[in-house]
Amino acid sequence: MSDTVVVIGGGPGGLRAAHGIAECGTPVILLEQSEVLGGTPIRENYAGLTPHGEPAEPLLNRMAEAVTSHRLADVRLSTRPVECDGEPGEFRLTVEGPSGREEIECGAIVVATGFQHFDPGRETQMYGYYEFDDVIALQDLEAMLKVHDVRRPSNGEPPKRLCFVQCVGSRDRHIGNEYCSKVCCGVASKEAIEVRQLLPDCKVYIFYIDMRMYGYWENEIYWVAQEKHRVQYVKGVITEVLPKGDQLVVRGEDTTMGRPMELPMDMVVLSVGMEPSAGTREVTRLLRIRPNRFGFIEAGGAPLDPVSTSRDGIYACGAALGPADLEDTVSSAANAAMKAVAFVRRDARAGASS
Ligand SMILES: Cc1cc2nc3c(=O)[nH]c(=O)nc-3n(C[C@H](O)[C@H](O)[C@H](O)COP(=O)(O)OP(=O)(O)OC[C@H]3O[C@@H](n4cnc5c(N)ncnc54)[C@H](O)[C@@H]3O)c2cc1C
Ligand code: SF4
Repeated sequence: MSDTVVVIGGGPGGLRAAHGIAECGTPVILLEQSEVLGGTPIRENYAGLTPHGEPAEPLLNRMAEAVTSHRLADVRLSTRPVECDGEPGEFRLTVEGPSGREEIECGAIVVATGFQHFDPGRETQMYGYYEFDDVIALQDLEAMLKVHDVRRPSNGEPPKRLCFVQCVGSRDRHIGNEYCSKVCCGVASKEAIEVRQLLPDCKVYIFYIDMRMYGYWENEIYWVAQEKHRVQYVKGVITEVLPKGDQLVVRGEDTTMGRPMELPMDMVVLSVGMEPSAGTREVTRLLRIRPNRFGFIEAGGAPLDPVSTSRDGIYACGAALGPADLEDTVSSAANAAMKAVAFVRRDARAGASS
């Protein structure tokens, strides 16, 4: 019987879970497969975070520091689990890290292995992501915004006309991703504001099916983008991106007016959705927990228990459970931390009384 909890994944979710577990007085081992903590926002160079625009790096560095400096937290970088034996309360996890293979005993596990961006060339190349230099994805623009330098990759010039195409890889029955990725409407609107601030002469358009700005994001970003920063929202479906001279042309249908449209652009930004990361798929198999039909981890007790998996003693949080913004992520991480701590303590009490 072990009172230790292992957290797999050192992104925002894993960091929040590990910190919560350690703060409750329970030893925690955090496994992160890459060399750095902070997860996708750090790996993909996110700039300002939606909705308020705080720089991602210092915020996540602070979260990481709170874990690495905690006396009850043991952080292992470049390390991932490769085998899992034992039972809830007495798991034996084999991990592979810089000094080879090692077995860790733990009472409970929190999975925080996150998501990956939809690959816009995976099913169809209709937007020309791999064909045209000036077709980029949300995270590519984030990286440019992080260094305050937005330029057309093809010629190094600042764009004069830039558009976002929403729902790329989400809400699409044809490719099997029927779900909404939740964050991309907000992130695109935030990036649109940042482009307008950086390049006031650049016209910015957002082509959408319907804008999904849930909760406070509606008044914090959506109306601000339109009324203060003159971002132009066009309800329409883009079916093709084509080259024309040294520009691109987006072609589709303006669904409000019910007529075809064709507009020249210097840059096209694809608002790609979220898919389960390779790590989420791999750890789901390894721990023998049930995935849902999209490959995210199934939380069978949702909505009132959104973090317990199909196996006792194993909890999941953040984007490993499905599309999630940072608030969702840290909330479910705190919930999973509490469940894991309660599980190892209950198990320890049962052991002591038997
Ligand atoms: C383009 C884009 C921009 C976004 N911007 C915002 C924003 O501005 N504001 C906001 O609220 N939300 C934003 N989000 C959502 C936000 O990125 C997620 O909510 C958050 O990253 C989820 O955190 P996570 O820890 O669950 O997963 P991740 O950030 O994906 O972290 C998972 C971690 O697990 C590690 N891992 C995976 N597999 C293994 C394994 N087998 N072993 C060990 N480690 C493993 C990975 O290396 C990674 O470090 C954005 C999303 C997108 C797509
Ligand atoms: S958040 Fe917006 S862009 Fe993203 S899938 Fe949902 S509706 Fe589409």
